[in-house]
Amino acid sequence: MAKTMSKGAVLVICSHSDDQIIGLGGTIAKYASEGYDVHTIIMSFGEGVKPHIRRDIVSKARIKEAQRADKIIGGKGVIFIGLKESRFEEDFEKRGISENFKKIITNIKPVKIFTHAADDAHKDHRACFRIVLKTYKQMKLKADLYTFEVWHLINLKKRNKPKLIVNTSDTFNIKIKALKAFKSQIDLSTFYNYLVLNNFFFFLIYIKDVWNGIKNNSKYAEVFYKIR
Ligand SMILES: [Zn+2]
Repeated sequence: MAKTMSKGAVLVICSHSDDQIIGLGGTIAKYASEGYDVHTIIMSFGEGVKPHIRRDIVSKARIKEAQRADKIIGGKGVIFIGLKESRFEEDFEKRGISENFKKIITNIKPVKIFTHAADDAHKDHRACFRIVLKTYKQMKLKADLYTFEVWHLINLKKRNKPKLIVNTSDTFNIKIKALKAFKSQIDLSTFYNYLVLNNFFFFLIYIKDVWNGIKNNSKYAEVFYKIR
């Protein structure tokens, strides 16, 4: 049986189970449709968000949602590393996690790697960046290394790094569909919360991708910086 040749592997490394969809869901869907194998490594289960629910229950829900979202965007699977939130770097050196992390990267053989920006507003996103860059150097990787932003709506900082602009006009709808797989992130205790958070959340993503599109002559776009 004829099998479509893979164009190569793309690896996304992020802190929480929905960062990859918010940051580059449209790009992942596009690469997947072009024949790339897109793999995602997620550093934590994000179990600290809801302290009143047992950790293992939250973790299970997050894994299921991330897998469902990955299927929607055409990814090749998500791998959870299980680092403790706000203690990524110290936890990474324990329990053989860093060795395991390197083995996973060796097996995937990525031609492109995407991770959080060094100056992201979230502490765990910055820690994820530092871990990825350190590992990249230690492993002497040759893959293109790009950074993405999750909640910086409009970046006013001048960056002198080369940009990668991906026109996501054809895959923006898939991104939104994948985002809807993350039901446990939203507190359903009040319907009001649900409405406000849910709509505001999608509105922010919409604005960001539209803004990047306007700047780059397309309907929607996602923008990355090449740092290696
Ligand atoms: Zn995050």
